Amino acid sequence: MPETVETFEFQTEARQLLDLMIHSVYSNKDIFLRELISNCSDALDKRRFEAIRNPQHLPHGTELHIYLQADQEHRTLMVADNGIGMTHDEVRDLIGTIAKSGTREFLRHVQESKTEGAGTSPELIGQFGVGFYSSFMVADKVTLVTRKVGEDTATRWESTGDGTYTLQPADREGPGTTVTLHLKQEEDEHFDEYLDEWKIRSIVKQYSDFVAYPIRMHVERTEGTGEEVKAEQRLETLNSMKALWLRDRSEVTEEEYNEFYKHISHDWNDPLSRIQAKIEGTLEYRLLLYLPSKAPFDLFYPSAARHGVHLYVKRVFIMDNCTELLPDYLRFVRGLVDSEDLSLNISRELLQQNRQIQRMGKGIVSKVLAHLKDLRDKEEVKYGGFWSEFGRVMKEGIFQDHENKESILDLALFASTSGPERTSLQAYLDRMKPDQDAIYFLCGENRKVIENSPHLEAFRDKGYEVLLLDDPVDEVWTSSVFEFKGKKFQSAGKGAVDLGTEEEKKQAEEARKEKEQTHASLLEFLKEQLKEQVKEVRLSSRLTTSAACLVADQHDLSPQLEQIMKAMGQVVPQTKRILEINPAHPVLQKLQGIYDLDKAAPELPDYAQVLYGQALLAEGGSLPDPAHFSKLVTELLVKAL
Ligand code: ADP
Repeated sequence: MPETVETFEFQTEARQLLDLMIHSVYSNKDIFLRELISNCSDALDKRRFEAIRNPQHLPHGTELHIYLQADQEHRTLMVADNGIGMTHDEVRDLIGTIAKSGTREFLRHVQESKTEGAGTSPELIGQFGVGFYSSFMVADKVTLVTRKVGEDTATRWESTGDGTYTLQPADREGPGTTVTLHLKQEEDEHFDEYLDEWKIRSIVKQYSDFVAYPIRMHVERTEGTGEEVKAEQRLETLNSMKALWLRDRSEVTEEEYNEFYKHISHDWNDPLSRIQAKIEGTLEYRLLLYLPSKAPFDLFYPSAARHGVHLYVKRVFIMDNCTELLPDYLRFVRGLVDSEDLSLNISRELLQQNRQIQRMGKGIVSKVLAHLKDLRDKEEVKYGGFWSEFGRVMKEGIFQDHENKESILDLALFASTSGPERTSLQAYLDRMKPDQDAIYFLCGENRKVIENSPHLEAFRDKGYEVLLLDDPVDEVWTSSVFEFKGKKFQSAGKGAVDLGTEEEKKQAEEARKEKEQTHASLLEFLKEQLKEQVKEVRLSSRLTTSAACLVADQHDLSPQLEQIMKAMGQVVPQTKRILEINPAHPVLQKLQGIYDLDKAAPELPDYAQVLYGQALLAEGGSLPDPAHFSKLVTELLVKAL
């Protein structure tokens, strides 16, 4: 380790976040203490977990604890723990940089919301949870001295929050971390209140009462009267340390539950709802789970480090983010599970094959799904909010979790042509026409593009409801799930469309066949012209106003899914689609007219290209050669004018 003082610049993202913190409009500055205590508590958890494998890292008699000290004279507040500590390099990597994937996008998001004039919304920062940096809301200098378990030397980190920080060797008795805040003292604001014993007590009580380690502080008490007054220093424990999930529900307030959520999840917002259960039988465990009210910014970064679900065994913390307990599509659930049956020294490596974990996992999934169903039935607005935040993730479960796919489909909400409100599949089924035998849907980039798609024309014309699916994940599940409650899913952009009663269908099909014969030679000609782009040209039964559209065969990949798969690095053969032409459109008659006069008319190949190009544009696709298309259209325009 270098012997001298090294000066480092904060990584750009870290500096931006720090700036946000320092100039934060966050009105509740008290929470900096909660954040620091949460970090201490995590570090203590880690030391205890580490000691399962290396008992020498927690010598007998060591009491894990957090210690607070307010120094009136120097105006400093110290928060110390004897947890896992950090090495020199860890301090540099964890405190000076922000390794969370997606930070850059997050900051851009914050920046944009600022330029829209909304100011920096505290919820945004809260979503990110910049724990340690919140110290700079109340301090103008922060010093951190830390020593990693198993190492002899300590490191001192210091910064005034101005873009640089220093690192230097230091002394520290025993492992752990000490953070010292030099409280700000500005004309218009000072933070002396954080030196006050009662203020500190009340913050700890409010936000950190349940922390499983004692939070201690020396307090001064005077005794006696008159001449005999004696000041005495006493060490007091400020928190009750009561495990919230073991207490009787009637004893715990909503605030306490919410604070516990914030502690365990590092979220700054209140949760949306809570799931509590005690499971008894062959497998015994308690769970206290929460659904966040807002999706974290990194929900779609698979590598994101999450606080997830904590695993306890007989009230002893084992690990955070126990991913084995929850499937990927429930990765937003926070909280804890406390098992009575697992072994206390279960390691991360053993978790995956552990049968009890697997069974608990199943139990937890059904609890969460049952809770969501309940929420949907009893608190529609709240549930709508939940689905807006997490629906996209939940939908991954439709193809990930075969056992529960029907329940997840049942919980899903979709946009639909029936109106501005989202609909459940059950409500869709209830509205289905008597002759309707499929659930129609159409995937696309966004609601507007889908709504304007020519594929919907016949459905709209005949009054059939179509679900408008605009999440990329919709492409995926609709290609692997084929029915719901006995009704099959049918893409409005795939295969042939036959709507109406049996009688109507028969008549329509006969009429189409007849027309197809009339135009057989022209259709064959167009197919030859477009053989690079499409595999067939036929007459359509789905168009009423547009001239043409492109459809996929029933079992072909849709172009969107093809794109998704390519983006994931998969090799996908190019699938050609079918060009459908509206038999009632004047374009067909005109083309037929020209074709009948002269099968070799020089403009016919160009018309074929224009027809194909505009069908592609109508569904929101992009042209392979826009310049050529534009040239053809201009030529047409000149002729017509
Ligand atoms: P978060 O706690 O949300 O991960 P922070 O910015 O508060 O974000 O902390 C960043 C990292 O620094 C933590 O994840 C942890 O690894 C490390 N850290 C912070 N405080 C401590 C501490 N008291 N002891 C050990 N490590 C700590």
